[in-house]
This record gives sequence, C-alpha cells and structure tokens, in this order.
Amino acid sequence: MLELEKAVETILASVPAPKSEVIPLADAYRRVASEKIQASTALPPFDNSAVDGYAVRAADVASANSRNPVRLQLSGKIAAGEHFRGELSAGQCIRIFTGSTLPAGADAVVMQEDTRTEPTRPGEVLFLDSAKPWENVRFHGEDVKLGAPVLRPGQILGAAQIGLLAASGVARVSVARRPSVALLATGSELREASSESGLAPGQIYESNRAALAPLIAAAGGVPKIFPIVPDNAEATRAALAGALAECDLIVTCGGVSVGEMDFVKSAFEDLDGQLQFWKVAIKPGRPFVFGHRGEKLLFGLPGNPVSAFVTFLVLARPALLRWQGAEKTGLPISRGLLAEPLSNLDHRRHFIRISLDSEGFVRPAGIQASHILSSLAAANGLLDVPPKTSWAAGTTVPVLCWE
Ligand code: AMP
Ligand code: MG
Repeated sequence: MLELEKAVETILASVPAPKSEVIPLADAYRRVASEKIQASTALPPFDNSAVDGYAVRAADVASANSRNPVRLQLSGKIAAGEHFRGELSAGQCIRIFTGSTLPAGADAVVMQEDTRTEPTRPGEVLFLDSAKPWENVRFHGEDVKLGAPVLRPGQILGAAQIGLLAASGVARVSVARRPSVALLATGSELREASSESGLAPGQIYESNRAALAPLIAAAGGVPKIFPIVPDNAEATRAALAGALAECDLIVTCGGVSVGEMDFVKSAFEDLDGQLQFWKVAIKPGRPFVFGHRGEKLLFGLPGNPVSAFVTFLVLARPALLRWQGAEKTGLPISRGLLAEPLSNLDHRRHFIRISLDSEGFVRPAGIQASHILSSLAAANGLLDVPPKTSWAAGTTVPVLCWE
C-alpha cells in the first residue's frame, strides 16, 4: 500500500504542463494565472487627497486652532478626475475632494470638518486645526510602484487580485486552460435521481457524480457528466473510450476494488491505459486507481460516497490544480481546538469528518463509515489523523476544508 504523499507525488509527476489562454479579466475569477504581470502604472498614479477638504501649505495653518482660526484665501477647486494646472501659493487654499490631484505647491490637506466658511466672505476659508506636512495626502506609487509585480504565474485569481489588476489597467489576462473532466459512475445498482420509476429492490440513487461535479468545478475543472455505466466489461470499456476521446481527465467512481464485478482497471488497460497503483493507505478510500494514457489521466475512485469524496479531495484535486499550473495544490487549512478527545486506533491514517464551529471548536460530525453521507453533509472539514493516534480535548488541530 502506498503512503498518501507518495501517491500524490506520483500523480503530480504525471500531470502535463499547463496550456494557457488569454481571457477578459471579468471572466478570470478563480482561474490560475499563467503569466507574470508588472504594473505599467504606479498606484496611486499621482499624489492625491485622502479626504474632502482644502489643500494647503502646512506651514500656513501651523498655528490654527478653534480659538484662533487661520484665514486663507480660496483660490480654486479641483474636482475628482480634473487635471489641475494651477499652483498653490502662500496664504492660499484650494477646495479638493477625495481622490483629486494634489495641486503643486500644496503639502497637506485639511479635512472639511476642521474648517468653516462664512456666507459673507465666500472667497475665504477659516482653518480650525493645523495639519502636519503631508497629512491626508496619498502618495504616487505608495500602493504599487511602477514595474512591481501585480500577478505571478500559478496564483489563483480571487476577487481582490482581480481588483488589483483592474486598478493597474489590466483588461485581459493569460490563464491556464481549464481541464475538461469526464465523470463516470459505475454500478448496475445505480439509478439516476431523476428516474421516474423510482427504485427497484436492490437499487440505490447514484450520488457521486452530483457531489463530485461541484468539487471538480471548484478546482477549476469543467465537469462533463457521463451516463451511469453498468457492471460489465463491454459497457465499461465503451464508456472509458468515450471519456478518453472527449476529455482531458477522467474521474470514475466504483468498480475499482477486488470484487469480480469491478471492471474499471481492466477496461482501462484494454484501451492501452497504464495503471500506476490501486491502493493508498488512507481511510476512507483504500481502493484507488491512478493511470494515464498519454497526457490523459484516470482517477478511479472507490464507489462508497465518502470514499469517493475524500479520495477526490486528497488525490485528484491536487492534479486538477497542477494541470492548471497552480502553485498551491493542497486543501485550505484552518486551525481548530478539539472539543473532545479523539483517536484513530486503525493502522491507516483516517480522514475524519468534523465540524469546525465559529468559536474554533472541532467535533466529529457523526458516524464515520464510508457509506454514511449524513455525517459528510453535517461536516465542514476533515481531520487528518495519523494511524494509532489519540489526541486530548483542547489539542490544536489542522482542519482541511473543501468549501
Ligand atoms: P464499489 O466501489 O463499486 O464496490 O461500490 C462500493 C459501494 O458504494 C457500494 O455500496 C455501491 O453501491 C456504492 N456506490 C458505488 N458507486 C456509487 C455512486 N455513484 N453513488 C452512490 N453509491 C455508490
Ligand atoms: Mg460497484
């Protein structure tokens, strides 16, 4: 049996290099960058005001306070977006707004609340407070210097990164192409949830494709759902052949253990696919197949719903991300505190479904058997517990999150 890290390493080593495409920034949310972008404009692009108020020379208002206001001559107004050509001279102030260009000659902005105007003297402003030099001034380039990196390859574009790129004037961005991922469920007992005739004795509703499709999409893949594959060699081969023809990656579930009804491995080999291993030392999810045919990769997940879910997250998801050149391929980690003692008496490492509450406490989410979906649905994370390990209540533990 393979250790998980070794299995992930083997899988990642088989992932082909990412292919890139250039797309509008507006479509880039959650895509993986495939280029480095350096700022072609500094941010802010010019010195500007942080508040609504008056641009002044700090020295002119140095003595101002509410009992002894300083009176300056109002010499102009700079609206946001306006190109101001004038210059501020001693004894003058200029009306200015948040984001307006700081006029030449000014070295501070006094906010409106610290000033007063008198209807009888419209050309003047009274300053009730002093200003330190450069107070309320936002400097050219203090956010991003000209030429500074604003994107690096492998970075996942979140909302904030997209905002930074837009502020830098980037309208199109080179990102990795998303892999198309065939999603196949095998099992003659499986019925579509939409089936109008309901379940005959011995049948169950197929659920793995429904649960895995969003995980695939969240990892940047484009899931393509194939019809349920009955347990026979011919149907399995035909389905895999179709998946290999249409998609970059293939995720199957079921049909990979040693049962005589398990056809995925032999069908893949019949189609000239090469299998690399089929057992990983984790619970849930021991029977797991990884194979490839050329650049196309096969992830044969076990059929039990929780096993399929967990093996997808720890074994297939990293490959989807690496396929897109993502620099980080592991699940996001949060820290929590065990609310009760927890042990894994097994000789296999156990991914335990837990709930991490808003106070940071971690509790098992229910029965941990690999067919129990309700505890998975009650969970919001997995605890990676090494074999033969007991943790006391209060232990700080890393929680793997998938959403
Ligand atoms: P298998 O890996 O094919 O031996 O399946 C293991 C268990 O998971 C069996 O109880 C199957 O009925 C169940 N199972 C397999 N595939 C699915 C699926 N796609 N949806 C729900 N249950 C499944
Ligand atoms: Mg089966």
